[in-house]
Amino acid sequence: MKIRGKVLIIDGKKVAFSLLEDLKLKIDKLDKKPGLAVILANDDYSSKVYVASKEKHSIALGLKSCVYRFDKSITQGKLISLIHELNENPEINGILVQLPLYSHLCEREILEVISPKKDVDGFHPVNVGKLYAGLNPYAVCCTPKGIVKLLKAYKIKLEGKNVVVIGRSNIVGKPVAALLTNENATVTLAHSKTKNLKEHTKKADIIVSATGHPKLIKADMVKKGAVVIDVGISRQLDGRLIGDVDFEKVKDIASYITPVPGGVGPMTIACLMENTYELYLLQNKG
Ligand code: NAP
Repeated sequence: MKIRGKVLIIDGKKVAFSLLEDLKLKIDKLDKKPGLAVILANDDYSSKVYVASKEKHSIALGLKSCVYRFDKSITQGKLISLIHELNENPEINGILVQLPLYSHLCEREILEVISPKKDVDGFHPVNVGKLYAGLNPYAVCCTPKGIVKLLKAYKIKLEGKNVVVIGRSNIVGKPVAALLTNENATVTLAHSKTKNLKEHTKKADIIVSATGHPKLIKADMVKKGAVVIDVGISRQLDGRLIGDVDFEKVKDIASYITPVPGGVGPMTIACLMENTYELYLLQNKG
């Protein structure tokens, strides 16, 4: 419960845990295990860690988890053939290509080969188009979906609110702006070419920052009582993770704030699991 005048730290771990618990009960009741295929075709350390975490969560939930790891010799053609096979495989309900890919591979072409009904990340143009048209995508991108779920879990009203989203990537910024617009918020989408960012953020009831620029959002950029959602993750030299927001100072001004880590991050993985389950239902509805 929110105490008047005191900041509330949004606990993403707790909300994600409760989402995963509910999901486990639902999955336990199914005749068949939903299947998630993850393709890792890059050497990047963080990507390996993310894929291992996705595998661990899938197994813990009782999903069928298939991870395909490739070295640099993988070709565009082989990857496309694998995706065609997975599209036809009834044991697999969700297909995820971990980005980025090796530089010789064409990301856009590969993502478009995934069947929109198995596009568990919601990156296929059909799902992106449905999101922007206010229609129901087969799957909504995990991080933006997780952000809206977090706001709703804390009963933060969205309708009529002024929201400033900072960052316009296809993975976070643009889809979260679309989702919040669909929730009847008034959304400003800012980016690195935005002039005088502070002028925008000062008017915001809700700030969602997704830039990867450490401590971009300072206390004097935030209106008293605003809700601050920090999506950014940057690794410091000492190995600690920090967000886009100057947390220690902004928490004295905000009404709600997400920490990094432990805010948006856990929701992303929980939503990936939920998307796999929902795609299973979609593909198995009688
Ligand atoms: P991205 O593709 O690099 O996009 C970053 C966006 O931020 C771009 O639109 C860029 O503007 C904008 N930007 C960068 N510096 C800025 C500045 N000083 N002022 C205003 N805008 C600025 O990154 P992404 O994939 O969206 O990820 C963003 C951050 O979120 C990263 O730290 C990433 O690690 C994190 N992330 C976290 C999760 C999670 O689960 N918690 C999931 C995904 C991503 P331009 O378009 O003009 O270049």
